[in-house]
Amino acid sequence: MSSQNTTPETPTTITVAYGDGIGPEIMSATLRVLDAAGAGLQYDVIEVGEKVYQSGNTAGIGDEAWASLARTKVFLKAPITTPQGGGYKSLNVTTRKTLGLFANVRPCVAYAPFVKTNHPRMDVVIVRENEEDLYAGIEHRQTKQVYQTLKLITQPGSEKIIRYAFEYARTNGRKKVTVMVKDNIMKLTDGLFHDLFKQVATEYPEIEHESYIIDIGAARLAEKPERFDVVVTLNLYGDIISDIAAEVSGSVGFGPSANIGDKAAMFEAIHGSAPDIAGRDIANPSGLLLSAVMMLLHLGKNRVAERIHNAWLRTIEDGIHTGDIASAEKTTERVGTQAFADAVIARLDQSPEQLECIVYPVREAVPTITPRLGSTATKTLVGADIFLDWDGGPSGMDAIAALTVPGLKLLAASNRGLKVWPGYTAQEVFVDHWRLRYVAAEKGATVSHTQLLDQQRALVVGGYDVIKTENLCDFDGKPGYSLMQGQ
Ligand code: NAD
Repeated sequence: MSSQNTTPETPTTITVAYGDGIGPEIMSATLRVLDAAGAGLQYDVIEVGEKVYQSGNTAGIGDEAWASLARTKVFLKAPITTPQGGGYKSLNVTTRKTLGLFANVRPCVAYAPFVKTNHPRMDVVIVRENEEDLYAGIEHRQTKQVYQTLKLITQPGSEKIIRYAFEYARTNGRKKVTVMVKDNIMKLTDGLFHDLFKQVATEYPEIEHESYIIDIGAARLAEKPERFDVVVTLNLYGDIISDIAAEVSGSVGFGPSANIGDKAAMFEAIHGSAPDIAGRDIANPSGLLLSAVMMLLHLGKNRVAERIHNAWLRTIEDGIHTGDIASAEKTTERVGTQAFADAVIARLDQSPEQLECIVYPVREAVPTITPRLGSTATKTLVGADIFLDWDGGPSGMDAIAALTVPGLKLLAASNRGLKVWPGYTAQEVFVDHWRLRYVAAEKGATVSHTQLLDQQRALVVGGYDVIKTENLCDFDGKPGYSLMQGQ
């Protein structure tokens, strides 16, 4: 049974943003439910998103909003519309990074038979790393033909999210943690994440652990989601698989998320601002309402979280549905956004009869995570990859090799990641982006920064357009770079 305990909650101030598109409608529906349930919340309302962008603020969030977040440390956010075109920074990415919200937690649960899904037993939590990876947003156009984005994966950031996933599993009585990576291709970045996962897993012997390559993992998640419990993964993969998981559970309109940091947290639905249905009172407020339930748990308001969650389940079970989930078989009343909120409010002291009733025992919170597997490896400079913007081909490589400075050796050149010099190459398409790999002339010797600068200078003086240099370093004698074919 849902708790009947109506002891007033200690008042807490949270920051609220009504957002864009359907944001204001689903936020007012959500706050009405929170207030009716006696959640004991006060709202510090801030403006973020479209209007702020249009006022010339490229981050979509102003100083007053930051000041509110610094005060309350808890943010309930409706979706915003990201303006099209260059120059605008993603508000979500900026907020996550500025507040240090390293963990993005997305529960994806099926509510069969009331919401159509092929996977009635699905109950998966995706724990997505939230600050790193390709979302560093460091991109460059290096040549006429070639663009790059940097994927940065750090040891402490990876360790932190992996530990968080295991701690989340332990705190929430989950049985298994699965990691999804692509370390068969990205041996260093994804390889680091995978290695740390295996190390951290040994500290949680009661929790089963397993690993998947992301492509087959995503396919299995779509086909057999009931075999997964907690999934931890890198930022981009997590972004994609959490939408897949939400969709196969029944509706993207249902998915809640929590963005957790050491000092602050942000809660939002996983869907966007749905401009196509904005202002029509037809949006499903469930994703935001369930995000608010996660927020109440974060605030330790477990009783009221339970009360709202069970009232919501009962509403779904009673067939009171918004259009996105309505079905001929299970819907008794098709309602709009506000009427749905009213239906939840009317059931605040009821529990579901067929869906499992939610009980949120007061548990220890997930503890603050401190990475502790720092590396003490000794770093040695052994060469460099020097990148050129050059319209030439393999036949011009001997002239480049002739510019090699004393003490260095031009080991190989590659184009589009394939070694094309020395030796025969079957590659037909060359682009204007060349990687030249220089190592010490004497096998196994180290090189100096000065030698590498001299090499860049020799190429520039020789008329070549040097666009970037990446140092090649060994760490405790092991290569800290991907090897070229035949190396
Ligand atoms: P979207 O999630 O807004 O909409 C996708 C589809 O799902 C649409 O058909 C929409 O009508 C439907 N939908 C979404 N939420 C619904 C709900 N609660 N009830 C019923 N139907 C719902 O994705 P989009 O169209 O790709 O993006 C629209 C805007 O939202 C873009 O500007 C995008 O940048 C932004 N966005 C914001 C966030 C955020 O603020 N966290 C997240 C994703 C997208």
